[in-house]
Amino acid sequence: MRIRIKDIKEKDIDKIINVKGWVRSIRNSKEFSFIVLNDGSNLAGLQIVVDQNTKDYPKIIEKISTGCSLSITGKLVKSPGKEQAFELKAESIEILGECDAESYPLQKKKHTFEFLRTIAHLRPRTNTFGAIARTRNALAYATHKFFQENGFLYLNSPIITASDCEGAGQMFRVTTLDLEKLPKDKNGKINFEQDFFGKSTFLTVSGQLEGETYACALSDIYTFGPSFRAENSNTSRHLAEFWMIEPEMAFADLKDDMNCAENYLKYCLKYVLENCQEDMNFFDKFIQKGTIEKLQHILNNPFERLDYTKAIDILKNASKNFEYSVEWGSDLQSEHERYLAEEYFKKPVILINYPQEIKSFYMKQNNDNKTVAAMDVLIAGVGEIIGGSQREDNLDLLVKRMDELNLPKENYWWYLDLRKYGSVPHAGFGLGFERLVLFVTGMENIRDVIPFPRYPGHAEF
Ligand code: ATP
Ligand code: MN
Repeated sequence: MRIRIKDIKEKDIDKIINVKGWVRSIRNSKEFSFIVLNDGSNLAGLQIVVDQNTKDYPKIIEKISTGCSLSITGKLVKSPGKEQAFELKAESIEILGECDAESYPLQKKKHTFEFLRTIAHLRPRTNTFGAIARTRNALAYATHKFFQENGFLYLNSPIITASDCEGAGQMFRVTTLDLEKLPKDKNGKINFEQDFFGKSTFLTVSGQLEGETYACALSDIYTFGPSFRAENSNTSRHLAEFWMIEPEMAFADLKDDMNCAENYLKYCLKYVLENCQEDMNFFDKFIQKGTIEKLQHILNNPFERLDYTKAIDILKNASKNFEYSVEWGSDLQSEHERYLAEEYFKKPVILINYPQEIKSFYMKQNNDNKTVAAMDVLIAGVGEIIGGSQREDNLDLLVKRMDELNLPKENYWWYLDLRKYGSVPHAGFGLGFERLVLFVTGMENIRDVIPFPRYPGHAEF
């Protein structure tokens, strides 16, 4: 019976076990060889000793090179080396798949992340990308655990939608129309009534609006699914396809929203510190020094909560030279967000009460008639990791705002119904999952924390 390498324990010493995996490295000397075998279940893999006691030795060694897949049966012993606790004395080796040493791109030397992006199908076989995959998985598990433990219901919101949640127009069109022969209406415009859904449809930018409908029936829900944004921004924090977690709570205001965001983030950080120690040590040592301390520091301190207006004062008085200047009413750039979290407060900051003009139509209007009950959570290295708000639950105010923005109310009839039939205060937020993985691992580019990144000009694999 095959055992996963991470499951090998002290009690298995002196037992005959079988492991399967890929060769990370092989070192040959006159009388024996060392193979490091990795099956992805942990970072370190298992050291295998191949010698006279191994069937077909030394012939078998000639066919084994980095990247080969092997099934090895042998006796587990205490390792004399300091690097590992155990090693396996191979009794028999079966080569499952040979690997051409000439052309295999993952040789022992260090590769750049840019290069590894061009072989995204093989990069999970490197230490870094294996560790990222395991940590990403742990964060997804922690997400479900947190919301389930707190009574939230997991909701699957639609991927194809006819409404533009953010009103930002950065959407990918979904169509089955023949692009060579587009049907036109009498005004010469494309006739989408003939399209698959009988209207214009897109890939969703957010499941929030649908999430609100379920929150206004089941109280607390969360979504965790893909979002798509056709933003032509080649940054290290934007993807065209990313995963978003969107909780929505009924009977909740902005304060409840902030508390939920802070508790959720802290829960995730605590979870990886406790459950991904080997990988976290790796990130701390090789990716970003101090990553573990960075996470611990966040766990041990309350987030700073601050009005947008106060943040503008701080930014205007900062001695730092920003590329973009700020005035009350301007949208903060990533450099401003990072300054607040990294340098000024040195901890996560929740900015609230943004000017209405720079936020979405559905946010609850404050009594000052200028700001809305929005909140963004800003963290070091990343900037905005969460965007959320209390939602406008007053029908008249919502309709007035939609009219001001010339939004087609007929497309949102169902959304407006929520304010007609038993409206309740409610609030929620969206967290970009890759930004969380980016922060936790200390990686620099968001394209390296999703298995197959999609960004302008890139949809390979
Ligand atoms: P930004 O200003 O950084 O573009 P946003 O204001 O457009 O973010 P929201 O619409 O509030 O973001 O979306 C909620 C969250 O989704 C953000 O806080 C961020 O974590 C994440 N997010 C948004 N756009 C992207 C993207 N293109 N790639 C990855 N994550 C994203
Ligand atoms: Mn954006």
